[in-house]
Parts: sequence; C-alpha cells; structure tokens
Amino acid sequence: MKAALLEGINKLRITNVPTPKCKQGEVLIKVGVCGMCRTDMKAYMYGQRDLRLPRIIGHEIAGTVVEMGEGVTQVKLGDRVQVAPGLPCGSCSYCLQGLHHMCDYVQIMGFHYDGGFAEYVLVPNNGVSCGVLNKIPEELSFQEAAITEPLACSINMQESLQVGLGDIVIIFGAGPLGILNAKLAVARGANKVILIEINENRLAIAKNREFHYCVNPLQTNSIKEVMEVTGGRGADVVIPCCPDPDVVGTGLAMLSKRGRFGFFSGLMMNFGSIKVDFNLIHYKELRVYGAYGCSSLHNRTAVEMLVTEKVKVKDMITRCIQLEEVISGIKMIADMKEMKIVINFE
Ligand SMILES: [Zn+2]
Ligand SMILES: [Zn+2]
Repeated sequence: MKAALLEGINKLRITNVPTPKCKQGEVLIKVGVCGMCRTDMKAYMYGQRDLRLPRIIGHEIAGTVVEMGEGVTQVKLGDRVQVAPGLPCGSCSYCLQGLHHMCDYVQIMGFHYDGGFAEYVLVPNNGVSCGVLNKIPEELSFQEAAITEPLACSINMQESLQVGLGDIVIIFGAGPLGILNAKLAVARGANKVILIEINENRLAIAKNREFHYCVNPLQTNSIKEVMEVTGGRGADVVIPCCPDPDVVGTGLAMLSKRGRFGFFSGLMMNFGSIKVDFNLIHYKELRVYGAYGCSSLHNRTAVEMLVTEKVKVKDMITRCIQLEEVISGIKMIADMKEMKIVINFE
C-alpha cells in the first residue's frame, strides 16, 4: 500500500509498505479521508513527545472496515467508521473512571502505532475492544467525519469548563481549533462568542461565520473591548486556541469573577517567562482547567453532534489533497492560509 512514512525530522517519504494483516481482535480500515493538523506539522518539523519513528503519521481518520481478525464483534465488514486515535489499556485507575485519554499506558495511532496517512490502517486489539471505532451513517461524509477527533478534543475542554447556556465565551485564535471551539460553544448554548485573532485573513473568514464579535488585538485594546461588550463584567469563559503565552495574562484579565480559564493549546516551547498576575485567580475566584486529547466517549459525542448537525463543519474544509501532496499540505498548515486540510483517498 501507499503510505507517507515519517523517518526523521523533515524526512517524510511517500513509499510502498506491506498492507497490514489482521490478527485476533484487530480491524483493518481502508482510509477514506485523513485530516491534517498542526500536530502533524510539529511531528514533521520537530518531532513530538509521543512519536516513535519511523512512523506513518495521521490521527484524524475515517474509512471503511475491510478486514477483521477473529473475535471482533464491535463492527462488521463494510461499516463506515471514524477512529478515536488514543488506545487505552482499559484497566488502569484512569481507564476504570472512563478517563481513557488520561490512561497511564495510552498508545496513540499516528504516534505509537501507524496512522492514517496511508491507504490502509490497522486498528489494534485493545483499541477495538475499548470502543475506538465509531460507526458513521451514510449521510456523514468521510471529510466531515475526519473532523471528529479535533471536535472531540474541544468537547473534552468545554465539558471541564462547563460551557453552557448564557455564557460569554472568548476564544483566542481563529484557526481550525478556534473555529471548532467557537461552533461548539454556540451549540452548547453560549450567549456570545468573541473571537480574538491577529491574522487578518483568518479574522475575515471568522467574520463571515455565526460568531458575535471578532477582534484584532493589534488594532484595538482587546481587554477594553471585552469589558465594553460584557457591560464591564468580563467574560465567563476564556479558551486559548493558540500557542501564544501572552494570552494567559490577557485572558485572566478578561474574565468575570468566578470565570473559567481553559488551557486547551499547549504553549509554544522555550518561551522563557511570561508576566501573569496570578493574584487574579485568588481575588476573582477564577477556575483554571487543562485539556489534552480526547477519549473514545468524547469521539462518540462528537460524531453524534456532527450527524445531528449541532455542529456543522463542511464550511471548514478549504483544501482536499492527495497523499502525494502531504508535504505541501504541511507547508499550507504552516502558512495558515487554509482552514482545514484533509487527505482524500477516494
Ligand atoms: Zn489533529
Ligand atoms: Zn489505562
């Protein structure tokens, strides 16, 4: 089969590798679409904590079941599925609480195991038995289904933050994850969503969507703007969807008393020190949460939201490429002109 094999930093090769064969409990998926994101770009440019090389990367996978090992009962041949990429052990203390993405022994497809930048991908035994395969109906395209995983990560964040009815939500960054978080906040009943973005091109795209305010902090005083919009009260929730460490201090200053702050994006590496007034957490009784990845349950919830169109993502896919173009896809992610880029195998 054809695959994009990452062999080292900046060394990615389109090559032929043997198509995997299913052993007991395993499932082989013919990839329909695999989404690309900044994590793939980072893996290619710098490596990643969980990445084991050489590796077929790609973790936003949707496709069709074409082969099954003995004992598989969760799916059948021909099922269209989305794959939750984190494979939990199923028995550690976190797994037993249903927190599969916090599993002490989690293995991630596209990092520890081969992923979806290939014509076929093998889903290991423990993934299949822990429910990483989510069936998707005919009416949901593979392209939309490939956005399940980033939506699931956003659901993980917003469940912790309890984003809900009447909330005023601020999102830093109008890239794919910023837009997804904004759409999700609207779907969960947020009263207003304010997007803050320095890239004019992305700001212009965001302005055409269903959000209430889009602000460029290089042109206006964003804290002042938020205070005006909220009648001097501040926002209920702040979610940074960008790696800029400066948004931590700005975000805390924008929150109302008892506001909630979510560390959704990892901050850029080696940023040195940042100026944050942590006393704001004390005086305003702020709550601070972190989120990393998603469980198979978050993926099931995400599929449900996509199928019922509570969150619509068709308008986010601005570029479909072939597997051979994966390096140019990574460059497109880096220059931030496209919204969501997916690799199409059909
Ligand atoms: Zn991703
Ligand atoms: Zn576990």
